[in-house]
Amino acid sequence: MAPKPSAIRKNNWVNIIFFAVTTLVGLIGTPLYIYKFGVTGSEIVLLVFFVVVTPLSITTGYHRLFAHATYKTNAVIRFLLLFFGGAAFEQSALQWSSQHRAHHRYVDTDLDPYSIKKGFFYAHMGWLIFWQHETDYDYVKDLAEDALIMHQHRYYLLWAIVAGIVTPLLLGALTGHLLGAFVLSICLRLTVVYHLTFFINSICHIFGRSTYDIYATAKDNWFIAFLTFGEGYHNFHHRFSGDYRNGVRWYQWDPSKWLIALLGKTGLAWDLRRVSNFRILEAQLAGENRRVTDWLARDDKNTEFLKLGEIVQAQYDSLGQDLVKWEKAARKYKLMSRRQVVDYSKRNLAEAREQFDYTHHDWKALLKQYLTAA
Ligand SMILES: [Zn+2]
Ligand SMILES: [Zn+2]
Repeated sequence: MAPKPSAIRKNNWVNIIFFAVTTLVGLIGTPLYIYKFGVTGSEIVLLVFFVVVTPLSITTGYHRLFAHATYKTNAVIRFLLLFFGGAAFEQSALQWSSQHRAHHRYVDTDLDPYSIKKGFFYAHMGWLIFWQHETDYDYVKDLAEDALIMHQHRYYLLWAIVAGIVTPLLLGALTGHLLGAFVLSICLRLTVVYHLTFFINSICHIFGRSTYDIYATAKDNWFIAFLTFGEGYHNFHHRFSGDYRNGVRWYQWDPSKWLIALLGKTGLAWDLRRVSNFRILEAQLAGENRRVTDWLARDDKNTEFLKLGEIVQAQYDSLGQDLVKWEKAARKYKLMSRRQVVDYSKRNLAEAREQFDYTHHDWKALLKQYLTAA
């Protein structure tokens, strides 16, 4: 069955009122509150905690774990990601992932829930407040098998309220700042985190570099990456969405990638999926080739351009061949070095066995001596 267009025009009053209240209280209430009561260290700590943990649970949890399955982790971490992800009030992980998978599959078409082709505001937040989306749960059949994800989906509002409202209020009350927790850790935090998340669908589909897919609307934007725990490297992400990294270079700001790698190092996450460096380099070279070829194609009557085009093509072809050769050599080396490890372990095992036999022989001789003496 052909999929239906993703949305019909309909004001979503629940979202409109929720956005309006949190934004107004967050932006107007914050300066008023600080003016009247000041702000204490514990209130700042609580605010920073929620400003960091809730979007980080969306990026490492909702996005890279649930929507893209780029790694695996245990039930405790999954629970924490669903809990604090829920606190961000960005729908259930199941619904979020389904819409996000549709975004990747049908990017820029009418089936993309937050298509940039419908304008900056639509992609940013318009799609959530002026449109009604039909979520196709066929995209997330794998996630529907997870009991925790399904619990969060069925009782989403309860999860979101407990994690995103009750928890900060409780912590605020315990430190004597109930109102401060409401204004700062709920309303201001939601306003800030919402727009930072929305920037990925709006700004990152317009402004930035297209290194890996030059025709994609998705761009690598280091500034937005800085604000969104690494999600701004959106050109790479759309090209290689199965990779747990978005900022693929070691120096690119991507705390979500570092957190997943840390979980991997400590054994709390496993099966971290990374695209081969050769595929990444290949995509980058293809992008460079397309860019220069398109530039030369501006004037197909210019003989100088035609000649240059031939040189570029020949150079690109031999670059491709050299890359294949390099990859083959690397694969062989990896196999060889692995075999050497096997040889080493085999030798190690034989030596240990030999040593044991030697000592065992002495032991037996010793026993014989004593037993005979006794
Ligand atoms: Zn995107
Ligand atoms: Zn994605």
